[in-house]
Amino acid sequence: MTSLRGQPVHPIPSALALTLSPTRPVTAIASADAVVVRHDWSNAEIQALLELPLVDLLWRAQAVHRQANPGYRVQLASLLSVKTGGCEEDCAYCPQSMHHSSDVSGRPELEVEPVLARARAARDAGAHRFCMGWAWREIREGAPFEAMLAMVRGVRELGLEACVTAGMLTDSQAERLAEAGLTAYNHNLDTSPEHYEHIISTRTYQERLETLQRVRGAGITMCCGGIIGMGESMTDRASLLQVLATMEPHPESVPINALVAVEGTPLQEQPPVDPLELVRMVATARILMPHSRVRLSAGREGLNREAQILCLLAGADSIFYGDTLLTTGNPDVAADRELLAAAGVTAWREVLD
Ligand code: SF4
Repeated sequence: MTSLRGQPVHPIPSALALTLSPTRPVTAIASADAVVVRHDWSNAEIQALLELPLVDLLWRAQAVHRQANPGYRVQLASLLSVKTGGCEEDCAYCPQSMHHSSDVSGRPELEVEPVLARARAARDAGAHRFCMGWAWREIREGAPFEAMLAMVRGVRELGLEACVTAGMLTDSQAERLAEAGLTAYNHNLDTSPEHYEHIISTRTYQERLETLQRVRGAGITMCCGGIIGMGESMTDRASLLQVLATMEPHPESVPINALVAVEGTPLQEQPPVDPLELVRMVATARILMPHSRVRLSAGREGLNREAQILCLLAGADSIFYGDTLLTTGNPDVAADRELLAAAGVTAWREVLD
C-alpha cells in the first residue's frame, strides 16, 4: 500500500468504531480526525486518493468536511453571462469561442441596471454569491470596465458576495476591482499543465497562473478549478489538483466541473462523465483543500438527485443556483430547493438572514 508520510493511504479512521454506536452523535464521529492543511502534495499521493475504494475516499472526505464545515452549510451562487459569445480564445469545451461553430452567437453586453435586477432576484431567491461572466480574452478598459466596476459595487450593496470571470487582467485592473469590493475573481486552470495543449492554444498555462497571482496580489479571493471529461488521464486529474493544492494559500473557491459536451465544439463527441468520477474529484479536492469552497459546477444536469447528494457528502459545499450556467443548462431553483431538503443541508443565506 502506498504511504502518505508514513500513514496508510486509506487508514481506517480512529473513530470508525464509533459508527457502530447508534447513539453516538455524527459530529462526534468526525471530530477525532484533525483537519490537516498541507501545500506539499505529490502527484502520486493525490492519484492514490483519487483511486481509493470509493467508500474509503468518501469516509476520509467526510471526516475533513465535517470538521471544516460544521453544520454542512451549502453556498448558493448564481451565475449570469454579462457578455456572451464571440470570444477570441479557443477553449475546446466552450460554445462561446469564435473558433467553434456552436449555436451560441454574440449578444450585446448587458447593462448595469438589468444585471443588478438579476442580482436582486437571485438574492431574493436565496443566493449568497452573484457571479458575472464576460466572454473576453482579457478585461477591456473604458466603458465596459467602468460598467463592470459599477456592477460589482451594486452587487456588494445588495449584501451579496460578488465574483467576476472575464479573462486576463492587469495589476491596476485587479486593484480597481478590489477597491470596488470584488469578493472573488474566477480564472480556472481547466486541466493539468500536461493536458492543457489539447484544450487551449490561445493562452498559456503560465499566463493563467500569472493572472491568478495578480488577483491574489490585489487581495481578492481566488476562484480556480477545472473540468473533467475532456480526455484527460487520472494522472492529469491528479496533476490539476496538485497545482491547486500546492498553492499557498489554497484558492478560497474551487469549482469542479464535468464537461457539458456542446455540439459544434471540438469536444462534442466526448462521452458523458461517470457521476462517480465527479464524486471522486470532489472528495479528493475536499481532502486536499479542507477550507476551500468546493463548488459542484457545470454538468449537474447530467446527475440524478442521488449522485448530487453523493457529491454533497463528498464535500461539495456550493452549487450554482438558477437554470443557466453562462450558456449551458443547470437545474432550476425549485429542483435545488428539493435537493437541499432531501440531503438535509442548509443554505448559507438561510443561516445569515
Ligand atoms: S471559456 Fe472563457 S476564455 Fe475560453 S472561449 Fe469560453 S468565454 Fe472565452
